[in-house]
This record gives sequence, structure tokens and C-alpha cells, in this order.
Amino acid sequence: MRISVDPEQCYGSGDCVHRAPSVFTQVDGLGAVIPGRERALDVPRVREAVEGCPAAAITVVRED
Ligand code: SF4
Repeated sequence: MRISVDPEQCYGSGDCVHRAPSVFTQVDGLGAVIPGRERALDVPRVREAVEGCPAAAITVVRED
């Protein structure tokens, strides 16, 4: 499982960075996962960031 931000949906509100700054950052104004933190699913606030993204741009992608 891997955390991903869809740059086509994100509009740069910054909510994810405020909720889980150890996992999310902003690049060129858009939300992004900090390199190396894509599998930080155990961080409690990641779920909050996923559910709280106003653009529904954050997904947890299954890697089969
Ligand atoms: S909370 Fe959603 S819309 Fe806001 S910066 Fe993060 S990914 Fe983008």
C-alpha cells in the first residue's frame, strides 16, 4: 500500500501538510508525499489527512 497525491485533483490547500507534516509537503504549491514516506501508513494522522483533503486528491494505492 502506498500513499499518493493526484496533482490533477489537488489545488494546494495545504491541509494535508498541517495534518500530517511528517508525511506530506508542498511542491510548487501542490500537496505531495515526502520522498521515502509513501508507506507511512502507520502515522495516525495520515488517515485524517486522506479523509480531510477537500479535493479528495489523496489515495492509498494497493501495490499488487
Ligand atoms: S489537502 Fe488535498 S488539496 Fe490540500 S494540498 Fe493536500 S492533497 Fe492538495
